[in-house]
Amino acid sequence: MTKVFKFGGASVKNADGVIQVVKILNQSQQDNLVVVVSAMGKTTNLLEKVVQKYLHKDDQYLENLAEVEFFHFEIINKLFSNSKKVTEIVKNIFSDCKLFLKNNPSPKKSYVYDQVVSFGELLSTIIVSEYLTTKGINNKWLDARNFIKTNSYYRGAVLNWEITSRKIKNYFVNERLIVTQGFIGSDDNNFTTTLGREGSDYSAAIIAYCIDAHVLTIWKDVPGLMNGDPKVFGDTQLIRKISYEETIELAFYGASVIHPKTLQPLQKKEIPLHIKSFINPEIIGTVVEKGKKLEPKVPCFIQKNNLSLIQLSSRDFSFIVEENISYIFKLLDKYKMSVDLIQNSAISFSVCVNDKYKKMEELLKCLRNRFDVNHTSGIVLYTIRHFNKKSVNDITKKGSLIIEQRTNKTIQLVMKPYF
Ligand code: ASP
Ligand code: MG
Repeated sequence: MTKVFKFGGASVKNADGVIQVVKILNQSQQDNLVVVVSAMGKTTNLLEKVVQKYLHKDDQYLENLAEVEFFHFEIINKLFSNSKKVTEIVKNIFSDCKLFLKNNPSPKKSYVYDQVVSFGELLSTIIVSEYLTTKGINNKWLDARNFIKTNSYYRGAVLNWEITSRKIKNYFVNERLIVTQGFIGSDDNNFTTTLGREGSDYSAAIIAYCIDAHVLTIWKDVPGLMNGDPKVFGDTQLIRKISYEETIELAFYGASVIHPKTLQPLQKKEIPLHIKSFINPEIIGTVVEKGKKLEPKVPCFIQKNNLSLIQLSSRDFSFIVEENISYIFKLLDKYKMSVDLIQNSAISFSVCVNDKYKKMEELLKCLRNRFDVNHTSGIVLYTIRHFNKKSVNDITKKGSLIIEQRTNKTIQLVMKPYF
């Protein structure tokens, strides 16, 4: 049986996490296994800071880089009694990173970002791989940039499936247990690319697809897929079984358990996805599989915070129809607002957006040229899949309801929370 395991940054955030990886591997069969690992803990965020400062010509970036180095050596010192080899490799990785930053002539921000941020994954996988070896788990460390081939759209590279799949077959042949990185790849010039934040799940799915894995297991710091974020909804339940379609729906509405792109390759080849607890591997977890009925059949809650509601009405009682709507959407696109919900009537149009890039004022200015505009910030959008009376009642208690939209399976509630 061919398997892919993915361990996220929250799992390998410290030495205990790496030790737990060994425990999990010792409980599973170690043949035909690919282990995909993300950067440790908050490394990616720290490296983002390095890049930001570097691009602003702020020499403090070196201090931030030293912080990343310190963090990794703390882990190394806890894990290895003889750390000579791993220390040397890790030191070299940091030298490469510093050398790149020192000599890099490119002003292209996204390019620089990918070259630097990718070091997080190289570090984590080296440490994990070396540690497994000291624990008698023979493994082969592979550089994912040799086989995850993408275009040059840095920070959100698009995979070339054909080349990747060919390369993976070549690189993986005859290997029993592989340790490799998520998130990173390379373009035609062999420059490093990344697949977008939290992209390691997607990498694991790409690999699972290309090697025709029997299962992909994503080990997480939660017991599995829950019917709501436990930090937000308190009394949540574990979903034991769910279909790809339903999981995609949940991801679409904003459930952030797995990277949304992850499911498509798995669904295509009907590779089951297991989401399991890293801390308690005994817990059964969630199985995402073709046609699985939601089990238990409970309402699933998703909350999106800090949205803005823009309500427009025409000044002259003219209808808001095709021409106006297309004008509004062009502006939303121009100002990079992601749209979460729309509602329209004859002379009014409401849209709930996420102003990720803080462009609201500019957008409102344009809209005011044509419409009467009402803008409310601090909006919460609740989505309940498989809603019932009680679940809707529970949510509507949380604030004043502004818009409600329902289909047979989904209800969405746009609310201004009470504080
Ligand atoms: N390390 C990357 C990130 O934090 C990729 C991942 O964790 O999936 O975004
Ligand atoms: Mg991460």
